[in-house]
Amino acid sequence: MADDLMEKIVSLCKRRGFIYPGSEIYGGLSGTWDYGPLGVELKDNIAGLWWRMFVQERDDMYGLDAAILMNAEVWKASGHVEGFADPLVECKKCKRRFRADQVGDKCPECGGNFGEVRQFNMMFKTQVGAVPEDEASIVYLRPETAGGIFVNFKNIVDSFHPKLPFGIAQVGKAFRNEIAPRDFTFRSREFQQMEIEYFVRPGEWEQAFEMWRQNVHAFNEAVGIPRADVHELEVAPEDRAHYSKRTIDFEFDFPIGRKELYGLAYRTDFDLSAHANASGKDLSYLDDSTGERFIPHVIEPSFGVDRTVLAVLSSAYREDELGGEKRTYLAFNKTVAPIKAAVFPLLKNKPELVEKAREVYLMLKKIEPRIMWDDNGNIGKRYRRQDEIGTPHCITIDFDTLGETPDLKDTVTIRDRDTGEQERVSIDSLAARVA
Ligand code: ATP
Repeated sequence: MADDLMEKIVSLCKRRGFIYPGSEIYGGLSGTWDYGPLGVELKDNIAGLWWRMFVQERDDMYGLDAAILMNAEVWKASGHVEGFADPLVECKKCKRRFRADQVGDKCPECGGNFGEVRQFNMMFKTQVGAVPEDEASIVYLRPETAGGIFVNFKNIVDSFHPKLPFGIAQVGKAFRNEIAPRDFTFRSREFQQMEIEYFVRPGEWEQAFEMWRQNVHAFNEAVGIPRADVHELEVAPEDRAHYSKRTIDFEFDFPIGRKELYGLAYRTDFDLSAHANASGKDLSYLDDSTGERFIPHVIEPSFGVDRTVLAVLSSAYREDELGGEKRTYLAFNKTVAPIKAAVFPLLKNKPELVEKAREVYLMLKKIEPRIMWDDNGNIGKRYRRQDEIGTPHCITIDFDTLGETPDLKDTVTIRDRDTGEQERVSIDSLAARVA
């Protein structure tokens, strides 16, 4: 299955409304993807869980939503204007461009020779204001969300007086002009990140690093990414960014191979010091307990939302046989499933069934809004559809619900997605099951 798993996922995502190619009716725009109705829910469930685990349930974390457009000085200070580049080569014959570190000596398309390797800055540039383009009007779309966090460090310290260690978290879009976007959403030009900068006393970085290492695994478990498919890669000193004293890449066995899902880095005091120098503002921290003033060091766990969605989809993808028929289903856990339950009237043309089913549907929707109504086609087709979008439960209202068998009045069938088994339960017990 692994060979064409990616193709199957891409096709299911489009067919069922999870993810569509960006600008599709105009022939698309490479490296962009649009999340459809189910994709939005899946993505929001994942990002929402992350926010709850790492911001709301903790008392050492502060949330932030900074502007995507930032003063260009931010990216000069952070080193991105100078150095956020990938090596680019162009084929002399067909003019196609590749990342030099991802190809051999010859063009993989036509076998031609490559020209010189150039450094290609991956930041998207735009301009602010109605003035002709000049150096002063240039701004960059942020290539990572972290910049907004460092720039707001002082604001948060002044507003909340947090005690070290503490962290600032942000979920938002980032943009990179990737030379070769590919592998579905894995390498996009516009994507979403969930990032944390966790500030510590210099001597306490190791325990914070360890805590976040474990938190990464806890998050994966919560969204349904099996531990066995996640591998820690200790990045060798010569491969780390110059300011990093330790970096772990968390790699996942994607259908396209083992590749980076998340990163965890100890960035020392590099960022705050650089921004303090460039802005001329004091970004030091006064430690009340010792009276010492210093620049905190930072641990950075960096999560990609789109890569998480892809890892969750490929972990959940199943094919089996049920009742003698082949089927495809997504074994999402309840937390991330875009739809928590679907409600059907057994028959669409029996008003008393439809009315009762509507009643159950509306009652459940008040408790859990992510409930779907479906009365299209026969029950078998509806099950198949819900299986394919990973809905954990299907609830059917039949004649027994209406009292045809008096003992069964106000009971319904509830079907389990993974086993296909049905149970007869009272309407009163449904809320507890779907919420
Ligand atoms: P890669 O080596 O795959 O290009 P990176 O090391 O440049 O990734 P980071 O700069 O560490 O990535 O970014 C943090 C996280 O943001 C990544 O772990 C990944 O989840 C996500 N991410 C980075 N680039 C992309 C992209 N082009 N498309 C989708 N997600 C991305």
